[in-house]
Amino acid sequence: MKKNFKATTAGSLPKHDWLAETETLWPQWKVSGDELWDKQKKSAKLWIEEQENAGLEIISEGEQFRIHFVHGFLEKISGIDWDKKTQMGIRNDRYTVEVPTVTDAVQRQGSVHLKEASFLRENTENMTKFTLPGPLTISDTIANDYYNSSQDMAMHFAQLLNDEASELAKAGIDIIQFDEPAFNSFTTESIDWGMEALEIAAANLDCKTAVHICYGYGIEENLNWKKTLGEQWKEYESLFPEINKSSIDQISLEFAGSNVPPELMRLLPDKEIMVGVIGVVNDHIETANEVKDNIIEALKHMDSERLIACSNCGMAPISVEVARRKIRALGLGAELANKQFNSLL
Ligand code: ZN
Repeated sequence: MKKNFKATTAGSLPKHDWLAETETLWPQWKVSGDELWDKQKKSAKLWIEEQENAGLEIISEGEQFRIHFVHGFLEKISGIDWDKKTQMGIRNDRYTVEVPTVTDAVQRQGSVHLKEASFLRENTENMTKFTLPGPLTISDTIANDYYNSSQDMAMHFAQLLNDEASELAKAGIDIIQFDEPAFNSFTTESIDWGMEALEIAAANLDCKTAVHICYGYGIEENLNWKKTLGEQWKEYESLFPEINKSSIDQISLEFAGSNVPPELMRLLPDKEIMVGVIGVVNDHIETANEVKDNIIEALKHMDSERLIACSNCGMAPISVEVARRKIRALGLGAELANKQFNSLL
């Protein structure tokens, strides 16, 4: 069968219960030292196989080596005081968390994720994707007690991210994806300086680049927030033209079960689009037919070669079993959509 488009996930997948606490956004590891590294590898390998078996073309390591998508990167950056916790309302006060504080110039002490990226590269023949937090989202997930402004801090993080991404690309990663969920909370700042920071992070990489912009994990705070956004979610409307002008190759966006008007995807005529065709909530597992219908709907607004079927967001906080079933539905739905699309040609 001719494959008209590829399938992948946004990035993170749940951790197995022998590795970390489950169904929570900031879990604790259950093991430590060498045992931790061994179990992280085992967990990542299971997810790599799960994605391959489902027929996904672009594979991630499911973020099995980091507790949280932002703090996993920050843990190895100096200039951050982890004991100086600051209560911060993040994502424009959508939820309050205790975050560490930047108290000195931030510096990268060697590779952060190279070992993990190399493990991914060695364990699949497929295309690989590795996710890193975006600079604006980092600056919204850590307190600043050193730089003049969030913007100034983000620009410094952007350079560290670029150094890291450059090493990961050299290790054979095909796509580096920067996660910028905070773009939807700060559309004005994103356009004013977030995109500039993102361009610094993504500059001169020897691989494809992507940005993931969503409405957050399927946790209660986000579900409540979404209820306030009205019948048509228009946050993407101002962001997409800026992204289309940028050097970023791909964008990952939320679509399934959302109030995002699908025609907004027409604002990205020059980009590959990872369309969220499965949601990331625990209480709804899409059928393959639902996935197919979402893909066929999205195809009304872009050429098939620019579509990549994807999840709306990371699946870190949902159950392992639900995530497995969603990945399988994603693969099957993509296959059905391919068949239907071929029959229309
Ligand atoms: Zn997301």
